Amino acid sequence: EAGIRRQLMDLHEGATQYFEGMLKSPEAARAREYLTGRGVTPETIKTFRIGYAPESFNDMRERLQPHFSEDALRQSGLFSAKEEADGRQGQMYAKFRRRIMFPIMNEAGKPIAFTGRAIEENDEKGRPVAKYFNSPETPLYTKGQVLFNLDKAKSAIKTNDFVLLVEGQMDCISVYMAGVHSVVATSGTAFTEMQVRQLARFTHRAVLNFDPDNAGRAAAEKSIALLTEEDFEVKIVTLEGGLDPDRYVKERGIQAYLAALRGAVRYADYLIERARQEFPARTAESNVKAMNYLLPHIRRMPNALQRNSFALDAAQKLGIDSGILLQEVKQAAAGRV
Ligand code: ATP
Ligand code: MN
Ligand code: MN
Ligand code: MN
Repeated sequence: EAGIRRQLMDLHEGATQYFEGMLKSPEAARAREYLTGRGVTPETIKTFRIGYAPESFNDMRERLQPHFSEDALRQSGLFSAKEEADGRQGQMYAKFRRRIMFPIMNEAGKPIAFTGRAIEENDEKGRPVAKYFNSPETPLYTKGQVLFNLDKAKSAIKTNDFVLLVEGQMDCISVYMAGVHSVVATSGTAFTEMQVRQLARFTHRAVLNFDPDNAGRAAAEKSIALLTEEDFEVKIVTLEGGLDPDRYVKERGIQAYLAALRGAVRYADYLIERARQEFPARTAESNVKAMNYLLPHIRRMPNALQRNSFALDAAQKLGIDSGILLQEVKQAAAGRV
């Protein structure tokens, strides 16, 4: 099906140009204000090809229709179709409306999907809208295989020999524009083994800077597991003030952010600290919970020396009997092949 892929590539390029053009239109005044308010400059807009999906249900389809097959329009993921009474697919209409549009590029820098951010919390009828809305999976786009900004970041990842992982597109864009070029975003979706292997072509060192909330902490733990499985050296950044990278860079400046990056801690220390905060009581029950939290991570460590030093460190910092923890580690390690 080379034909349909080619068409879908061209269609995404066409849609990107359409959204870019619309951001300059009078209708996009609110969107431009929104972007300016968030510190998104014209240079950033150009670099990331940021655009605007207007209110119209039909305008984009009418513009693209003369150039693309019905099939390509349907498979692009950019339109929905009303189902007619006889079960046939009716007229297609735009799925992304009244949103700031961020194209998601493949590794070659070509747009293959979009993520759209609402600029208002409610729609025309006052109903709440999802803050972000993404393209569905299409013949071009498989969610777990793409990392936002990898096209622009990969040479820097190789040169700097580390990748900075953030959650949101806005985080990624702000950090990149402030000069840290080896940054990619997981886009709030689950980080996958496939993405880790993509990164492994450029580096084996990762710095994680997810949001300082429960979702971000859960994402960090999951990512630590995936990355250490593939022999990455992993460090974690925690930003003070409950800020995400985007806001931190804008409110505190790039120097403060660089200092925070330099202060990234090894993932083992991060996990021990997490265990200490999550299970603070030094009761037997709480200690068992802390141990059970850490053991799967210790088990993943490739060599015995590492496992022992992690266990000793954890035991000391948590006030657990190190003999018991080491015994648990040995039992866990015995399960390794
Ligand atoms: P902003 O700064 O624009 O408010 P954010 O990136 O801080 O956005 P989060 O809520 O932290 O937003 O979400 C992180 C990422 O998760 C987003 O950048 C987006 O890719 C994804 N995301 C957030 N909300 C949704 C949603 N409702 N549907 C799909 N993806 C979402
Ligand atoms: Mn978040
Ligand atoms: Mn966020
Ligand atoms: Mn944010």
